[in-house]
Amino acid sequence: MRADFIIVGQGLAGTLLAEALIAAGRRVIVVDDGWRSSSSRVAAGLMTPLTGRRFTLTPGYPELFARASATLGALGVLRPARVYRMFVDAEQRERGLSRVAEASCAPFIERVTAGPGAAHETLDDPLGGALMRGAWTDLPRLLSEARERLRATGSLVEESFDCDALACQVDGVVWKGLQAGGAVFCDGYKSALAGPFRNLGWQPAKGEALTLVSGAPQTPFILNREGWALPMGGDVWRTGTNWEWGALDESPTAEQKDKLLARFRGYFKGPVATEVTTHQAGVRPCTGDGRPYLGTHPALPRLHLFNGLGPRGTVWAPQMAEIMARHLIAQEAIPPEVDLRRAWRA
Ligand SMILES: Cc1cc2nc3c(=O)[nH]c(=O)nc-3n(C[C@H](O)[C@H](O)[C@H](O)COP(=O)(O)OP(=O)(O)OC[C@H]3O[C@@H](n4cnc5c(N)ncnc54)[C@H](O)[C@@H]3O)c2cc1C
Repeated sequence: MRADFIIVGQGLAGTLLAEALIAAGRRVIVVDDGWRSSSSRVAAGLMTPLTGRRFTLTPGYPELFARASATLGALGVLRPARVYRMFVDAEQRERGLSRVAEASCAPFIERVTAGPGAAHETLDDPLGGALMRGAWTDLPRLLSEARERLRATGSLVEESFDCDALACQVDGVVWKGLQAGGAVFCDGYKSALAGPFRNLGWQPAKGEALTLVSGAPQTPFILNREGWALPMGGDVWRTGTNWEWGALDESPTAEQKDKLLARFRGYFKGPVATEVTTHQAGVRPCTGDGRPYLGTHPALPRLHLFNGLGPRGTVWAPQMAEIMARHLIAQEAIPPEVDLRRAWRA
């Protein structure tokens, strides 16, 4: 079998890169091990414009969000939604009020509420909060539908990609009888552990998330304070998450389950019943400077990387997939701020 590119991994990165290459008329083969270690399967896919304790706008957010909305909207998986950021202290409230006056932030903030209960009477939000214009992405649907399209065209190999079986040649690569012009690693945090791109400045971070059934009233917006809670309709919620840099084992823990449940209940004034239906853990492919890693291996020109999407993969991935596809097809230069060579340690 012959393809233009082998893509290793069908998470968010591999999926959107495959879509972009196929749209440009290229033949791809995606090798995926059945989402065995997929951050994209755990993520809520939230797109929150202002984040962190300092309530700052993600650099480049307007352009990234516009591209993400167009790409994910065309694939039918974008869900525009408001995000209610409940302030944790008076300083954050002051900051929220000042952000409304900033031209770059204003389009993403609907309003800062007058005080407790003003956004929704059931919430325990003593300092009020900011209602933002954001979105979430239906990642399970994106991955499943794309997988079906790949399967239907004979473009999916459902097994583990073993680097020992990969041969790099002058004009391409060969892997288990499959010939291609190059191989692109979209294997999430696994690139940090082994393989040709392991010596970049990775900082993978584990996170956990719950799906639960709860009598808590479904708010008409996503809740955000320290973590998040996403109303899914009916009495279903998703809630998360935490950051863990030590144990990258993808195993859910009882300790985090208790913490996530306590935080979820803390969003509401009255007692709320909760029943956990799913508890997942995943590892975010984070980088030292918080920006993705794109490009070609400095010593092995047939090997490429599209990875490092970090905690905001849905915001970054659509535009980065376009850039990566142009790099692969037309050797267009990768913008220096996302070029993997900035973090290459020989
Ligand atoms: C708890 C949690 C919450 C998150 N919340 C959000 C959020 O709200 N919003 C947001 O935008 N982002 C969020 N993220 C981050 C988001 O998940 C990532 O940025 C993004 O999904 C990374 O996608 P990826 O394709 O690079 O990696 P992955 O999703 O990890 O995909 C890698 C794929 O490669 C496969 N693979 C790996 N090695 C091999 C191999 N050797 N052979 C074959 N297949 C292989 C894996 O099984 C997987 O299918 C969250 C992450 C976590 C863990």
